Amino acid sequence: MQLSDFGKQMSSDAGILTLMDDLGKALAGDKPLAMFGGGNPAQIPAVTNVMKHELELIMADDARLAAMLGNYDTPQGNDHFIDAIVKLVNREYNLGVTRDNVAVTPGSQNGFYMLFNMLAGQTNGAKRKIMLPIVPEYIGYRDQMIEPDSFVSVRPRIDKIGQHEFKYRIDFDAMQIDESVAAIALSRPTNPSGNVVTDDELSKLAELARQHDIPLIIDGAYGLPFPGVIIKSAGQHFDNHTILSLSLSKVGLPSSRVGIFIGPPALMKALSSISAILNLASPGIGQYLVTQLIDSGEIMTLARNEIQPFYADRQQQAWEIFNQKLPGDLPWRLHSYEGTYFFWLWCEGAQKTSKQLYDYLKEHSVIVVPGESFFPGQNIEEWDHARQCIRINFSRPDEELEAGAIILAEAVRWMYN
Ligand code: PLP
Repeated sequence: MQLSDFGKQMSSDAGILTLMDDLGKALAGDKPLAMFGGGNPAQIPAVTNVMKHELELIMADDARLAAMLGNYDTPQGNDHFIDAIVKLVNREYNLGVTRDNVAVTPGSQNGFYMLFNMLAGQTNGAKRKIMLPIVPEYIGYRDQMIEPDSFVSVRPRIDKIGQHEFKYRIDFDAMQIDESVAAIALSRPTNPSGNVVTDDELSKLAELARQHDIPLIIDGAYGLPFPGVIIKSAGQHFDNHTILSLSLSKVGLPSSRVGIFIGPPALMKALSSISAILNLASPGIGQYLVTQLIDSGEIMTLARNEIQPFYADRQQQAWEIFNQKLPGDLPWRLHSYEGTYFFWLWCEGAQKTSKQLYDYLKEHSVIVVPGESFFPGQNIEEWDHARQCIRINFSRPDEELEAGAIILAEAVRWMYN
């Protein structure tokens, strides 16, 4: 039996499949020595306790329980949840949005699939693309386009900092926007690099989006307002060309599958219509669970007091351990850590590729994510840098960071032999 072109494309060797496969196997089978792959949020007991309490309150209320389990919500999302989101973002950032600016999707991953494809692809006889103004960028975007080759991306400027650190910056001189660009999209903080595009860079992108009358999509899965895992000062941007996406996943509820999009009403209406066709409605359980937390603003307190300090602590430990263990005489560099749950390691001038490094580490029971799939819109054969990086999830216990770093240090030495 045959698969359609769409079927083949979606079931071929997608980077996200390897990632989820490694993650699933590691959780189900033999525990690796160090699980630095995957994007699972850490399980933070204080967060789990708050969610447990919210669940108990719902279970004690028959009407809420019945509604949570037994109702399809509207395709736009649950009414109370949407009201709570509107209240929160207006209170935190004075965005001046209304219910019409919001669409809830079954996870933001699914939301991006709908959003990207509703904007890019064949449009009045011409092909339009999603522009990623800086790569590397989130692996999960790469295989989402129904029409192949629908990303265009811009290589960053690379600032080297000291012996073992670097930072990406948007290269505005290399950015060319014309009629073929349907939208500009970026994650902030960026998965995988841990970069936070500066307020100034973001304002310039917003200006370009406004000039060309296209949306600027800011994926805030790790960012503002929650969980706000950003360690430098960073402002929020929103105007009538912005689409901001949020997720309950990185707050600790990845299985709830709730993505939240805030943007121009006409686009949010289109997104909800597509969601009705694909999904009927978004899962209600997560929306019910956190509505009170969002409405009261308690989610911000939880993020500030528990989630952000947790990742700040893990990051500091991991940064110290990796810098201690990795061979000081070789030219590896970690991207400056500014946010997310990841480090991004670059082995400049290495003899071997990051895919080979990934295989070596996997054989030695350390799971990471090879960098090649994080460069949508680029021909990675023509750019060494795109074959010299790996992503490391640092939010692991100390012993695991130590054990993994020792193997990683050997592997990095092997990279240069
Ligand atoms: N955006 C970024 C940057 C992510 O890292 C992820 C998940 O890892 C997503 C979006 C998708 O998250 P979800 O579908 O769980 O909301």
